[in-house]
Amino acid sequence: MFDPDPDLIDYHCHLDLYKDYEQQFEICERRRIATLAVTTTPRAWNRNRELASNSRFVRVGLGLHPQLIGQISEEITLFEKLISNSIFVGEVGLDASPAHYATFQKQKAVFTRILKACAEEGGKILSVHSVRAGKTILDMLEEHLPRNRGRVVLHWFSGSITEARRAIGLGCYFSVNNKMFKKTGRSSLVEVLPIDRILTETDGPFVVSNNSPVGPGDTQKAVSLISSAHGKTEHEVRGLLRENLARLESMR
Ligand code: MN
Repeated sequence: MFDPDPDLIDYHCHLDLYKDYEQQFEICERRRIATLAVTTTPRAWNRNRELASNSRFVRVGLGLHPQLIGQISEEITLFEKLISNSIFVGEVGLDASPAHYATFQKQKAVFTRILKACAEEGGKILSVHSVRAGKTILDMLEEHLPRNRGRVVLHWFSGSITEARRAIGLGCYFSVNNKMFKKTGRSSLVEVLPIDRILTETDGPFVVSNNSPVGPGDTQKAVSLISSAHGKTEHEVRGLLRENLARLESMR
């Protein structure tokens, strides 16, 4: 069982991509960070599971990153073999940015298999990447993952407000990070997200602050921006985030 009362929530962090990754698992434990340790390839899953085997704070996601589909799309078969052992799934999704658009059809084929496997198993929690693909992601969720067969957390969501509203209607949660508040207008997205659908994340080590990668649990800025967007104190926001996490994970 995971500790029901974490101090911090980092629901999308690549612990295994830090240089000192073994220590990062310990840091999450010591600092009481409820962490979803996402992976980018199913081959990484076993090692991550070993490192988190006694953890009360680290959940490990079985992942197949959309940006890697050009190289490792055949690992979908390994993903399908492992899925029954994992409650958490991520990082998965679609990326239609120029650098990855060439594989977009292949990404869709793989993501369809992922969603079907999740729907068949039931009870999974997915951390979903959706760069320039908000509408397609939502269409595919609607088609392949009935709401009672899985829970979706949209990671670093960058779609339109209309898409966000549609995602809310589909029951999605949103994990938000410091960077999401940088762009003009992005704060207005966070304002429309219902406070009971928000979690925090870092996407470390991909997000850099003061020339070094953010560490797991560096969510203070996200918390403070959520609190100003929603007119609540940071203390209240932290309490609500804990409630959201408990609700999300109990709905399986
Ligand atoms: Mn990521």
